[in-house]
Amino acid sequence: MTVLWFTGLSGAGKTTLAKAVRARLPSYSFILDGDDLREGLNQDLGFAEAHRLENVRRVAEVAKLMVKAGVLPIVALISPSRQGRALARGIIGQGFTEIFIHAPLAVCEERDPKGLYAKARRGEIRYFTGIDAPYEPPLAPELMIDTVCNSVEACADKVLGFYGLPSLRSRA
Ligand code: ADP
Repeated sequence: MTVLWFTGLSGAGKTTLAKAVRARLPSYSFILDGDDLREGLNQDLGFAEAHRLENVRRVAEVAKLMVKAGVLPIVALISPSRQGRALARGIIGQGFTEIFIHAPLAVCEERDPKGLYAKARRGEIRYFTGIDAPYEPPLAPELMIDTVCNSVEACADKVLGFYGLPSLRSRA
């Protein structure tokens, strides 16, 4: 079974698209959102490199368990390093599908849906991806979604179309 792994900058559209895709899938899918997980399972972790790797590792392990339970996980996680995503691919195995949710940093900063870029620029948050921590774009993702040139609906269509997943939109 597939794991949809959305990677990209904060504000690129991972959560928005995960919800849009989820809304069109049958009930056996579940969103694993990095922000939510940091409030619970990963609340002991910070943003230094080793902690980010551990963050990715735990999410990958949870996704793997979900697959075993017959659930389709949609992971929305910045997962900024190639090493971290390779680790996740190794844990999950064949079903791992890396989807690069892409918008340029300037656009993400302009959107700033949670006000985090502003805080990072003011120095109130450290190690913020794209500002004072790196984001390594995937070199060979299974799919890249451009959230600047495409609407949310069009982006969700691309994800579902690529995997041949059933869209429930016609029932909406
Ligand atoms: P992330 O989860 O990657 O941090 P969010 O989904 O929280 O990003 O925020 C993305 C922002 O960009 C939202 O305000 C959303 O409405 C906006 N947006 C504009 N166009 C798109 C698109 N095509 N896909 C996803 N988000 C988009």
